[in-house]
Amino acid sequence: MTDRPSAIAPPIHEIRHLLERSRRVLVASHIDPDGDAIGTQLAFGAFLRHLGKEVYLVREAEAPAKYRFLTGVDQIRPFDEFTTDFAVDTAVVLECPTIDRVGRAACFLTGEVQILNIDHHYDSGSFGTVNWIDPTKSSVGEMAFELFDEYGYAFPGEVAEHLYTAILTDTGRFRFPSTSPRTMEIVGRLIGAGANPKKITDDVYFRLSAPTMKLMGRVLSTIEFHDGDTICLLSLTKQMLDETGADLSDSDGLVDFAMFCDTVEIGGLLKENNGRTRVSLRSRDSINIADVAAEYGGGGHFNAAGCTIPSELADARKHLIEVLKSARRSKRK
Ligand code: 5GP
Ligand code: MN
Repeated sequence: MTDRPSAIAPPIHEIRHLLERSRRVLVASHIDPDGDAIGTQLAFGAFLRHLGKEVYLVREAEAPAKYRFLTGVDQIRPFDEFTTDFAVDTAVVLECPTIDRVGRAACFLTGEVQILNIDHHYDSGSFGTVNWIDPTKSSVGEMAFELFDEYGYAFPGEVAEHLYTAILTDTGRFRFPSTSPRTMEIVGRLIGAGANPKKITDDVYFRLSAPTMKLMGRVLSTIEFHDGDTICLLSLTKQMLDETGADLSDSDGLVDFAMFCDTVEIGGLLKENNGRTRVSLRSRDSINIADVAAEYGGGGHFNAAGCTIPSELADARKHLIEVLKSARRSKRK
């Protein structure tokens, strides 16, 4: 059972002290990055350069197309471009439960490297030299804002855009319960600093490619309901990707459609993935879906989580339906 621990908040001077001791800093986030990961990574790049640091941003895979509008996104270099003798003295690691979630760049984070671990997930491990973990925060973008603001940082327009994108996407457009009064104050400050809400929202959500729209149609046509229309599942096959020309990252957000139905309490999207099945799960209110994901070795938030089931889609779906049915009955609290 995953309880929600309180925040681990190091005093600001610990973070300052760590950054004062740094010269060459790597900023990394998790594989399969989302808007929070990419936006906050870029913002940290600008902030640390402002502090006079030599900054390197690394990624395991290409940023999803919808985030390529972000200024400076090409500064996040693929791991393969780093030489084997590459070394830093410090790393900022954003929203990774373990160091492995960074991907192959984890090999740079050994030995003497001091690590600032920043996360807002409650299953985060304390692998850093300094750990700042606060599950009450909507996003690491919000946490980055608080930190930079402590320094009296004058947020340049592009950093305002990066952090706005991070918070916008991780709050599901300011809908999730993690959206606090403070979140909205911060968003207000970011708009004041030059973030354009309409432009950013359109860039992320309303400029879909034709292949993405075609994929959406195919995925929606798989819709199925169980347990008296309280469980709704969608499926995505490799064939759909081949036939529409979309790629897997174009399916981001599709799981939300499963929750658009008024009777649904648990929604899921199953994605065929080389003999295994990636699962995105969502739940309403009191159903702890992170616990369900954890049964398959995954994790996430109380109402939004994910996991990989080590079987083909059809088998995974069959198994998952039973698990979700019993979760509905027993995991309400
Ligand atoms: P999504 O369904 O959008 O991919 O993920 C929802 C949430 O669950 C995100 O916060 C994400 O970080 C988390 N999550 C997704 N897949 C995994 C996983 O395999 N392991 C863990 N620990 N968290 C995951
Ligand atoms: Mn996040």
